[in-house]
Amino acid sequence: MSLTAARIHDKARELGFTLCGIAPAEPSPTLAHYLRWIQRGMHGEMGYMARPDRVRRRQDLREVLPGARSLIIIGLDYRASFADEDALKDPARGRIASYAWGVDYHQVLSLRLESFAEWMLAECGGLFDHKIYVDTGALLERSHAQQAGLGFIGKNTMLIHPRRGSSFFLGEIITSLELDDYDTPQRETMCGTCARCLAACPTAAFPAPFVLDARRCISYHTIENKGWVDRDLRADFGNWIFGCDICMDTCPFQRFTAVADEMAFLPLDMRRVAPKLVDMLMLDEGTFRQLFRRSPVERIGRERLVRNACIAAGNWQDKRVVPHLIQLLYDTSPLVRGHAAWALWQTMGLDSSKLLTDLYQRDDDEGLRGEVAALLG
Ligand code: SF4
Repeated sequence: MSLTAARIHDKARELGFTLCGIAPAEPSPTLAHYLRWIQRGMHGEMGYMARPDRVRRRQDLREVLPGARSLIIIGLDYRASFADEDALKDPARGRIASYAWGVDYHQVLSLRLESFAEWMLAECGGLFDHKIYVDTGALLERSHAQQAGLGFIGKNTMLIHPRRGSSFFLGEIITSLELDDYDTPQRETMCGTCARCLAACPTAAFPAPFVLDARRCISYHTIENKGWVDRDLRADFGNWIFGCDICMDTCPFQRFTAVADEMAFLPLDMRRVAPKLVDMLMLDEGTFRQLFRRSPVERIGRERLVRNACIAAGNWQDKRVVPHLIQLLYDTSPLVRGHAAWALWQTMGLDSSKLLTDLYQRDDDEGLRGEVAALLG
C-alpha cells in the first residue's frame, strides 16, 4: 500500500498527536518579516537566530535536507488543568509557564516522531530521506504550521488553532517524499480588531501587532538571557520565574483549550508549577537537579532560576525574604548576588544601603559593582 497523506493523518492520530498537517517544503511566507526582525536586533542575545547558516536554512528547507519536498507538522496539547488558580497568582510563589509543568517536551515529541518516521520508512521500503525537529532546528515552524493548516498567526505571534487555542507543542518531519495531497493553509490571521494580548503584556514587548521584541519579553529574560536582566523591566515581571503565559492566556481563543491527556505533561509536584519563593531562594545545586529533573526548567540551571526568584522576591516586597536575600549576597554567582541586592533594595529601600555598600566594597565583580552602584545612585 502506498503512503498517502490520508494514511499519514490516520497514523498521527493513532500515535496520539492532537493535530497533524502536511505542507510542501516551500519557503515560509513570513521570511521577510523574520529578516526584518533580525535586522532590528529584536532577537536580543539569541545570536544563533541571526547566524548566516541558520538564516540560509530558514530561507530554504533544502539547506536542512537536500531534496526536501514535504513537511509533516504535528501538534500535541500540553495544558494541564490546574485547580488552584489562586496559587498561581500568589506573590509569595514563583510562577512557571504552563508548558514547563511536566516532562521536557523535546524528549516526549522526539521519541514519538522517531516512531512516526520509522513507520513511514517501513511503509515505503526506506525510499526517502528525513529529518526530525522539535523546536531545535532553524525553521520558521509557526508559519509552516499555518501553511499546513494547523492554525493562524495571532498578534501575539503565537500559532492559534481556531478551535484549540495555542497550548500545544509543535514538531516536524521534513522529508524528501512527495505526497499525493497537501493540507489547505489556514487564514493568515483571525484576530480582527482584537488587541487584548498587546495591551496585557506587562513589559510592552509588542511594538506592533505580530512583532515581538524579545528584549522586553519576560519569557526571553527568564529563560534565554544568561546575564543581567534589564533593571527597568524587572518590576513588571510579577512572580514569573520561568517563562510567561500572559499574551497567550488573555487571548479569547484560549477558551477552547483542551485539557491534555498526555501524562508526561501533567504536573506531579506543586513545586514544578508555583514553588514558594523562599524555597527557590534557598535552592542549592543538588535540590535544583532533583526537583527539576527532566523538566524544561532544568535547562536554565540553578543560577538563572535563583536570579529569577530574586526578581520575583523583589516584586513581592515582603520582609520574610530578607534573611534569604542577605544570605544570597554571599552566593558564588555574581548574577545571584547582584539580583539579590536589587531585591533587597526593592524590599527595604534605603534601609538596605549599609548592606549594599558593604557588598560594593568587598566584591570585585565588575558587573555586580555596576549594578549596586546604580542602585545606590
Ligand atoms: Fe489575536 Fe486577540 Fe488573541 Fe491577541 S488576544 S492573538 S489580538 S485574538
